[in-house]
Amino acid sequence: MATIFSKIIEGDIPCHKVAETDNHIAFLDINPIAEGHTLVVPKKEIDYFFDLPDALMEETMDVSKTIAKAIDETLNPLRTGVIVQGLEVPHAHVHLIPLYKENQVMALGHNVNVSEDRMLEIKKQIAARVDL
Ligand code: 5GP
Repeated sequence: MATIFSKIIEGDIPCHKVAETDNHIAFLDINPIAEGHTLVVPKKEIDYFFDLPDALMEETMDVSKTIAKAIDETLNPLRTGVIVQGLEVPHAHVHLIPLYKENQVMALGHNVNVSEDRMLEIKKQIAARVDL
């Protein structure tokens, strides 16, 4: 069965998309742990991140780097952190987490409230700075 991320890639489920290339899509996490929490997802449906073929993993990290820089420019965090977990959605992805203070908890489940209007605003601002 297709993963929820494949359904997003197919356009069957909406998302706040910040970028798309032939092999990747990036969108805001629906349950952010920080404003601007973004997922970078290879379109090829592979469950475990460390099963990605080398070239695809390299491309995933290149895309993640570009988007992290766009997040940094847009939201001005101290820096952007990375989580690779995959315990909920069996489709490899990278979490990009803007870190706004030194003692910020960077763990999935520690959600923050971000309004729909703010999600739309952030998505547009990040997307405008991504050049892929
Ligand atoms: P993980 O699989 O790395 O443990 O976590 C999956 C992440 O995907 C979670 O942070 C969760 O909030 C996010 N997520 C799950 N379903 C959706 C969805 O339909 N849309 C978006 N934008 N994010 C989702």
